[in-house]
Amino acid sequence: MEKGTFLYSVVKEKCPRCNEGDLFVSKNRYSLRNIGGMPDHCPVCGQDFKMEDGFFLGATYISYAMTTAVTVPILAAAYWLFDLDYMDMLPLFILLLLLLMPFVIRVSRVVWFNFFVHYDKDWQKNMATARTAGHNA
Ligand SMILES: [Zn+2]
Repeated sequence: MEKGTFLYSVVKEKCPRCNEGDLFVSKNRYSLRNIGGMPDHCPVCGQDFKMEDGFFLGATYISYAMTTAVTVPILAAAYWLFDLDYMDMLPLFILLLLLLMPFVIRVSRVVWFNFFVHYDKDWQKNMATARTAGHNA
């Protein structure tokens, strides 16, 4: 997978700006304490991970779409293949949501973040320039 791409950042859960810093505190998606735990800044390039209050609320649109795209075909298959009615599928639906939740939370956040912050192959140079400019101001 090529560094500097949207897919690299999403799959590896890396900072969209430098593609090196980890976006989440824990690599374990199923660590209940840190499912969505993110540092305030990228440990490598310093990119602000807390862009503004409520920034990641927009990720709920992506998580909704992802959850629908995964659960509807599975539940439809269960309905037609095993002739389960809706109430029989409820435990299956709840189990699916619980299993998918950590994955969906993280992927939707990374995708949402990548909409607003893009890979900068010269991030080191640009960071030094920004520091110098800020220092002189
Ligand atoms: Zn970074």
